[in-house]
Amino acid sequence: MTQKMFHADCQNCAALCCLALAFDKSERFGFDKAAGVACPNLDAAGLCRIHTDLDGAGFSGCRLYDCQGAGQRVTQEVFQGQSWQDRPELMLPMIRAFADMRRVQELACNLTTAKGLNLPPEHEAERQRLLLLLEPAGGWTIKALDSFVQGQIGAVIGRFLTSLRSFVPD
Ligand code: SF4
Repeated sequence: MTQKMFHADCQNCAALCCLALAFDKSERFGFDKAAGVACPNLDAAGLCRIHTDLDGAGFSGCRLYDCQGAGQRVTQEVFQGQSWQDRPELMLPMIRAFADMRRVQELACNLTTAKGLNLPPEHEAERQRLLLLLEPAGGWTIKALDSFVQGQIGAVIGRFLTSLRSFVPD
């Protein structure tokens, strides 16, 4: 995996953060939005109508958010390019998959970054083994994400990452 895979690619996403996430009216957001409610700033084509001037419109929080690549993976890999905007029955499954994939991408990003720690061979081998567990053969599916959430892989990786603290330079 490359670091490029851990940044949002909004062109290949079905505006999942604009649907799934909540925000409160503040200096970073112009109004309250509940989780699972499509942002009113999405236009009929499913694009943000204020995207070119988020700061000026009072939505700098949207510019600062990065899903670490979860949005495009859910849209393209799990749902083969389909969108809740065309098929409303996909709304809840896509919201759930987006939450699960954000965890996958967070863990995968941290494991990938740990490569730069020049770990001892046994730790490096474990890092690579765990990273492979986050790339199921055939790609992520709803079933694979469900298994990930219900299983222990996330906790195992979390503990492994915590164990690497002693290798982080001061
Ligand atoms: S303001 Fe634009 S980028 Fe922010 S949540 Fe709404 S549609 Fe998405």
